[in-house]
Amino acid sequence: EARDHYAAARPASAAQHAASLSVMPGGNTRSVLFHGPFPFTAEKGEGCVLTDIDGHQTVSMIGEFTAGLFGHSHPAIRAAVLRALDSGVNLTAHNRFEGRFAKLVCDRFPSLDRVRFTNSGTEANLLALATATIATGRRTILGFQGGYHGGLMTFGAATNPINVPHRTVVTPYNDVDAAVATARAHAADLAAIILEPMLGGGGCIPATGAFLRALRDVATETGAVLIFDEVMTSRLAPGGLQEATGVTPDMTTLGKYIGGGMSFGAFGGREDLMAIFDPRRPDAVPHAGTFNNNTLTMSAGIAALSEIYTPDVAVTHNANGDALRDALNALARKHGVPMLVTGRGSMMAFHFGHAVPRNAAEAGAMNQPLKELLFLDLLDRGFYIARRGMIALSLAVGAAEREGFLAAMDDFLEIRADVIR
Ligand code: PMP
Repeated sequence: EARDHYAAARPASAAQHAASLSVMPGGNTRSVLFHGPFPFTAEKGEGCVLTDIDGHQTVSMIGEFTAGLFGHSHPAIRAAVLRALDSGVNLTAHNRFEGRFAKLVCDRFPSLDRVRFTNSGTEANLLALATATIATGRRTILGFQGGYHGGLMTFGAATNPINVPHRTVVTPYNDVDAAVATARAHAADLAAIILEPMLGGGGCIPATGAFLRALRDVATETGAVLIFDEVMTSRLAPGGLQEATGVTPDMTTLGKYIGGGMSFGAFGGREDLMAIFDPRRPDAVPHAGTFNNNTLTMSAGIAALSEIYTPDVAVTHNANGDALRDALNALARKHGVPMLVTGRGSMMAFHFGHAVPRNAAEAGAMNQPLKELLFLDLLDRGFYIARRGMIALSLAVGAAEREGFLAAMDDFLEIRADVIR
């Protein structure tokens, strides 16, 4: 019923999707955006408001899965991109932006002595893993269920056929004993331990302090490189979760918002590990990439970190997120329905069930159809969240939008209480 209602209100999006079917598989080039009966097509975005080609306006609560931290039209980002355009694109040379941007990034995150840029978080993770395997001369990678490290490195329930064929072992998130035992069992060949310090796409499930400390210790003990994928979580504190948790990895990968919303990724870490890329070395490992220092991203990234997402703003923004999550959980209690909102700061996810999930398997076993109902019902009320029930607040979502969202949720929980129970 909710799907039919959605479809009937979006004839232009339906036609757009139908026309794309003959040129893209499923009419889609980004699987995460697909949902039944067909995804809507956006016409434009302004601030936090998205207008689709059928004329519906929604407040985006998903903010490009954390990359859209600055909203759809931040004036400082726009000015930075125009500055880059004014000096001409595709310079095929070092440019004035990249060194300054790299300095801002390294100053911000404790583990980054040296950094290199890529075009996506996916590439950043592949390069961090390559660095670890080259530096250690080993091949095995320890990852965690529900970890998302990009389109080519995803640890779902089943083995993902598109993953880069590393020698990979996977254990449950937040399970200290399993992780330590597995790391020790593979110690002689263990190149890297890679994890998100909070599962993002896997359900906004924070790592426990004990889990992070155990991984730090066992990485040191076995000589493996500990990699924090902070592509999403770096926004949750001024210096990322590595600063907030006090656990410092050997390497870090970044992406999403740090490039000001342009295509971006970065990997970096300890000086001795990153030194393999120093082109002055006779045995240097080449790391190329036509767009690694593209001026649009470099310039937008400088504005993002130096003018907009300053440490103070990061603290306030995440406090707003904490308050919203608390208010959402209070609403669930008020209506007496088994809905839980997990996460930290400006990232959160809805789960329907009675117990707080500790890992991806527990989150996955919770009621998925209700998440789709929530997604469609909220669209109807003018709010756009991820179909899988995720929120990533942008700076453009203000107090009025947060209040409006709580009112929409109050209404949803009232009307759908019986279905949820
Ligand atoms: N790591 C994490 C934790 C991510 O959430 C994502 C993207 N959702 C990536 C890596 C991959 O980044 P990109 O989409 O830029 O390749």
